[in-house]
Amino acid sequence: LSTDSEVNQREAESISRKTLRSHAEKFEFQAEVSRLMDIIINSLYSNKDIFLRELISNASDALDKIRFLSLTDKEVLGEGDTAKLEIQIKLDKENKVLSIRDRGIGMTKEDLIKNLGTIAKSGTSAFVEKMQTGGDLSLIGQFGVGFYSVYLVADYVEVISKHNDDKQYVWESKADGSFAVSEDTEHEPLGRGTEIRLHLRDEAKEYLEEGKLKDLVKRYSEFINFPIYLWASKE
Ligand code: ADP
Ligand code: MG
Repeated sequence: LSTDSEVNQREAESISRKTLRSHAEKFEFQAEVSRLMDIIINSLYSNKDIFLRELISNASDALDKIRFLSLTDKEVLGEGDTAKLEIQIKLDKENKVLSIRDRGIGMTKEDLIKNLGTIAKSGTSAFVEKMQTGGDLSLIGQFGVGFYSVYLVADYVEVISKHNDDKQYVWESKADGSFAVSEDTEHEPLGRGTEIRLHLRDEAKEYLEEGKLKDLVKRYSEFINFPIYLWASKE
């Protein structure tokens, strides 16, 4: 159990985001993943738009997975909003946060730790090698490491996720070699699925512009079989 002052301190921490949540369990990225992230965060690559394609593609994969499970077990979908197979993108100009949420399969605590950091896929070192010889960063998705493209535009990322088999957790990293995972008690319950919150770098503020995002979503949603909704907060 947490005291009120502990909870207040955690909230203050997360808003200032100078440090990751102090109560969270810390993990080191697998070495090759860490190298990959270094390359991305220091990249001068100009076509940063592709991060959105990768996030939409992951959201769509997650929705495909829960829809597939629901063919044999309707219960997995849950009720009300949780059952809506859709993608939501929100632009929070005040806090400079772009978030993308799906009601897909979600990730357990173990999934977050393995899939987003400690287990390198076979494509990781191949992609690192390609990048070192002047390869095209936009091919990142083909190497199975598209998620990390979020660090083209963000310097701090939170992944909040709820899988049917576990509680709601938050993964967070500033791409400095380590990440943290803790039970999420701050954000609204997702029901099921994943919300990725990108705290945008100053140079990437254009991704808070509704017009720009509308165009990008249009471009990347062509082969996506789920509705995508876009919200923008007033300035
Ligand atoms: P790929 O999509 O090619 O597997 P990514 O780097 O894009 O590679 O994503 C890594 C993994 O993280 C995915 O395989 C999946 O297990 C997990 N993941 C990423 N985004 C989501 C999401 N929105 N919902 C559920 N799992 C996700
Ligand atoms: Mg992907």
